[in-house]
Amino acid sequence: MINSEVYKQIIEELKLTNTTLVAVSKTKPAADIQALYNLGQLDFGENYVQELVDKETVLPKDVRWHFIGHLQSNKVKYIAPFVHLIHGVDSYRLLQEINKQAKKINRTIDCLIQIHIATEETKFGFDGAELETLFSSDLASLTNIRIKGMMGMASFSDDATKVRGEFIRLKSFFDKYKALSISNYQLTVISMGMSGDYRLAIEEGSTMVRIGSLLFGNR
Ligand SMILES: *Cc1c(COP(=O)(O)O)cnc(C)c1O
Repeated sequence: MINSEVYKQIIEELKLTNTTLVAVSKTKPAADIQALYNLGQLDFGENYVQELVDKETVLPKDVRWHFIGHLQSNKVKYIAPFVHLIHGVDSYRLLQEINKQAKKINRTIDCLIQIHIATEETKFGFDGAELETLFSSDLASLTNIRIKGMMGMASFSDDATKVRGEFIRLKSFFDKYKALSISNYQLTVISMGMSGDYRLAIEEGSTMVRIGSLLFGNR
């Protein structure tokens, strides 16, 4: 079951700020994805490699698959042939592996660097010092990846001030590095905001929101 009316309303809302919607379909059946696709949605986000691979084989080939979960290096090869954007890159080693797998199949894979903005220890991502190291390392030699921007997850909290502050932090890291031009690519994407906080995220500069439960119902 999908919430068609909510979908249409969100699409209208996002148009005002030119924000991209990634419909997060993890744990939901392929039929739900097909139903949203039939309304015009092409960007879908998944968290688990096996689930993504299974869905990719049965759904239309023009779906743009976003990998938004925690990606283990040894699983990159399964999604490399078709993935549209990998959001959660949280180590240089993972970037190297994505580059290696992309090279094998003669693709260039777009990636977002995950930034640790939440106070919760469990969320993955780079902190400020690690980012500095990353951007001063030899990224240009990774010729089969393109760093398109940054992604973050705010704390799971009702405290809007706190969540807003975390989005502001992500935006400020983005601003710090966006002028970087490594082998002609530039950072343009800020992936932040989910069902509960996407409006706040857009107010603070998000260009891409990842919305699941509002569209597909609770998991
Ligand atoms: C599940 C998930 C979402 C979507 O969450 P909702 O609250 O259902 O909108 C967004 N981003 C990531 C990284 C997720 O794991």
